[in-house]
Amino acid sequence: MKHDVDVYEVPEMSPDPRVRVFRRTLSGLEDLEGMEVDAYLVLGERYAFIFDTLVCPADIAAVMAICAPDIKGKQVLCVNSHADWDHIWGNGYFSGPRSVPILAHSHCRERINAEEARQQLGKYQARYPLFRDVTLMAPSITFNERLVINDNNLTIELLHAPGHCQDQIVAWLPEISLLLAFDAIEKPLPSIEDSTCAPLIFSTLKRLAALNAQYVLCSHGSTTSPALIHENQAYLDRLASRVELYLPAFKLAGADFEHVAESIGYPFDEVIANATETVDHAYYSWVHEHNARAVLRWRMQE
Ligand SMILES: [Zn+2]
Repeated sequence: MKHDVDVYEVPEMSPDPRVRVFRRTLSGLEDLEGMEVDAYLVLGERYAFIFDTLVCPADIAAVMAICAPDIKGKQVLCVNSHADWDHIWGNGYFSGPRSVPILAHSHCRERINAEEARQQLGKYQARYPLFRDVTLMAPSITFNERLVINDNNLTIELLHAPGHCQDQIVAWLPEISLLLAFDAIEKPLPSIEDSTCAPLIFSTLKRLAALNAQYVLCSHGSTTSPALIHENQAYLDRLASRVELYLPAFKLAGADFEHVAESIGYPFDEVIANATETVDHAYYSWVHEHNARAVLRWRMQE
């Protein structure tokens, strides 16, 4: 479906009337063309939760305008799933008179406050006018392992879920059997930040699978299917076993490597062989190579 606004609701993704799904599509932005990212509004009795703030304050202003009648009279709580720019650059909307608590992992706060984040924003602002109103606004309430918010008959469990990155969290809503996985899982494949995250993604996906969620939403890839967790696991298991096979050879050569995915006999075409929808080939083949390198470095260090 073609939309003439950049932020729009995706009602077919919602498993429950208390959950509303919003999508930001980027267009006319060269390298970022066609990129999509989702945010959620979850309505409790006392609280209205905004999960992620999309790519600029105007995005979240649009979401808030659509939801205004539902939010009225409730305390808004904003949650950042992790510090990657496409999830938090709308945070600045919640400043000044619109100030609300922003919840996230403590490392997410550190990343947003880091010099690197400032430099990245500067680069994007120099290139794309879309980001001119973005300010870096760090979460005000942080946790490390788990934070539970009880809102009468709606429980929101925020759980640390490192793997995509160190500060990734997910939200588990047991009453709806809904897992908001954000970037902890991704379609068509998950993305591992680096070798320290490599072992963590395996244990995180095991824990997420054990929740037995009936609905799983992730920030990129428009799917509600819990099967995606198992598909991501199958991909990672295959990747790890191919790396294992070639590990002695890599150890002998003892250098850094290019084209790891090809060298271990797991080319991108095989990864997406069963994909039924179009895949952003350029981006996800890069992700796959990056993943292969992260797993290889982790295994080389063991
Ligand atoms: Zn993302």
